[in-house]
Amino acid sequence: MTATLIDGKAIAAALRAELAARVAGHVAQGYRKPGLAVVLVGNDPASEVYVASKAKQTKEIGMLSIEHRLPAETTEAALLALVARLNADPGVDGILVQLPLPGHIDADKIIEAIAPAKDVDGFHPVNVGRLSTGGKAFVPCTPRGSLKLIKSVRQDLSGLHAVVVGRSNIVGKPMLQLLLAENCTVTVAHSRTQDLPMVCRSADILVAAVGRPKLIDSRYVKPGAIVIDVGINRVTDKATGKSRLVGDADFDGVKEIAGALTPVPGGVGPMTIACLLENTLDGYEIRLKQGGGGGARFDPVTEWICTSGNIQP
Ligand code: NDP
Repeated sequence: MTATLIDGKAIAAALRAELAARVAGHVAQGYRKPGLAVVLVGNDPASEVYVASKAKQTKEIGMLSIEHRLPAETTEAALLALVARLNADPGVDGILVQLPLPGHIDADKIIEAIAPAKDVDGFHPVNVGRLSTGGKAFVPCTPRGSLKLIKSVRQDLSGLHAVVVGRSNIVGKPMLQLLLAENCTVTVAHSRTQDLPMVCRSADILVAAVGRPKLIDSRYVKPGAIVIDVGINRVTDKATGKSRLVGDADFDGVKEIAGALTPVPGGVGPMTIACLLENTLDGYEIRLKQGGGGGARFDPVTEWICTSGNIQP
């Protein structure tokens, strides 16, 4: 059996085109452009690449990209002051502070300072809490994108057994909540799980978010399962000396067993930024509905804005 390839690149491109049309519709009616503020502290090379890519895609769909590049020695107080300014800025619909932050800055403190209504990463405790209680929340981008990929091959997930390998706050735990909301029976596995291959083999949907190259091989996969490979690992090819990206799944082995599989690169990765843009636009549209087209009536402290009603993917 050869798995259906889930083309995240194409699905993300289609989503961005849909978002661009929504933005163009609002602008044509005379509303301001949605704005996404991205804050980068220091010059971590991977973060630089990621921030540049976010800015490019934000502009491509017609939104405003507001970039703040701060030196590595920026104080926590200065960063908190910037976040407060962005919270109050009516032209800013989403705020993303690129992680990791330099060691002298408390990342939790910064995340908690972002107005939940502009927390398009979905990391603020208010959004985390609302997601886990089944309420309206900004959903973290990677799990939101992963769920869209699963639904691109199967709409009704009710009653299926999903296994999520990894329990991080940014991927594993929100993925658990999203699959639970889809009426899956969910198992979350981690580094202390016993007999991981056996646990994974019981999955109709297997989401690997570990960060271990090719950990998930064909022995871990139930025939016909949907496998979502979140992992991004840089490895060096011994023969050529060149480095390349691989996922947490052994693609060649798993594709012979699984029913559907995401590649790395070109699977979950492109969906993450597309869902960041979607979260930002969702927040903007709710703000418009509240009569704050220019943002004048929006109070970032007391008002709370959701993405999508009932945690739709
Ligand atoms: P973390 O390091 O925060 O979490 C990794 C999880 O994997 C932990 O829960 C850990 O268990 C578990 N784990 C580690 N080793 C094993 C093992 N041998 N068996 C079972 N479980 C194990 O990583 P993230 O969640 O941040 O990221 C996971 C991967 O996803 C990374 O490769 C990252 O680069 C990628 N990623 C990709 C994104 C995208 O856009 N495609 C976005 C975000 C992340 P324990 O809790 O017990 O330590």
